[in-house]
Amino acid sequence: LVAFLLYVFGLLAPLSQLTEGWTGLNTGLAAVRRIDEIESLPGESAARATRTERRAAPLGVEFRDVAFAYAGTRAPAHHGITFTVPPGGLTALVGPSGAGKTTVFALLERFYDHDAGTLTVGGRDIRDWPLAELRAALAYVEQDAPVLAGTLRDNLLLAAPDATGAELAAVLTRTRLDGLVARLPEGLDTQVGHRGTTLSGGERQRVALARALLRKPALLLLDEVTSQLDAVNEEHLREVVLELAADTTVLVIAHRLSTVVRADRIVVMEAGRVRAVGTHTELVESDALYGELAATQFATEHALPRG
Ligand code: ATP
Repeated sequence: LVAFLLYVFGLLAPLSQLTEGWTGLNTGLAAVRRIDEIESLPGESAARATRTERRAAPLGVEFRDVAFAYAGTRAPAHHGITFTVPPGGLTALVGPSGAGKTTVFALLERFYDHDAGTLTVGGRDIRDWPLAELRAALAYVEQDAPVLAGTLRDNLLLAAPDATGAELAAVLTRTRLDGLVARLPEGLDTQVGHRGTTLSGGERQRVALARALLRKPALLLLDEVTSQLDAVNEEHLREVVLELAADTTVLVIAHRLSTVVRADRIVVMEAGRVRAVGTHTELVESDALYGELAATQFATEHALPRG
């Protein structure tokens, strides 16, 4: 009971400043539960306290024969998958809907424990990581990144309230949000979320990315936006992701040709299995499914205007 009360208190205290009334609060809480960058669980404050230290070395990942089934489902989501993500660089996960890409992220976040096989992060079995430490090292930026009711500044500093002005400015520049801030009527103090200025899908994801970067993650998990309405913002996002891969391990669920062609390696998944690993050039030659994705799904972006 004490742990539960601490948990609730930990969540409510910062959010009460961000939300307006119970509707906003509930919306905020639902969103908070969906994003990992909120480190309000008891015991996670230590991880937060180390945030301003130097960026940790990038972490590699290894899945070795990892099998996993969601409770109550017949078919496993992963049938013994094996692939390696070396530290640093950009690794793309691709594959049709239901292939198991999001489940890779869910296991890395330890939203679930795998059933069989070995999963290591930074060479250490994922089950040996204290959860707070693991979650502090990882950042997960969802495709439909939530923006909470509150100001843009509140949204950015939610998981890193002690970030300095200089750190915030650097992240705004890095994520190309500085232009948005300049356009907004009250800059960083503009209200956003459901009662404020509406941000586009690409802008929302860049806000989530900025929020994640303020925590200096050693492994960034990014589910690239699929919306085709926001080509300019998405191009910016891709540029940012490529820059990030210089000093962080970036694992991206990729939906764009321009992401996969620049990825250091691509893991092609299908129906809970890894069917091929390689670069774009290698896979176009060697893997029929990848060739199909490249020719159809990924290729559509070429029709979009560029800014
Ligand atoms: P998409 O591109 O559509 O998001 P994906 O490649 O990310 O697909 P997953 O979301 O990892 O695939 O899903 C893999 C399998 O696990 C699918 O059969 C899916 O229906 C199932 N699945 C995913 N999440 C859950 C869940 N929470 N409970 C039960 N089954 C789930």
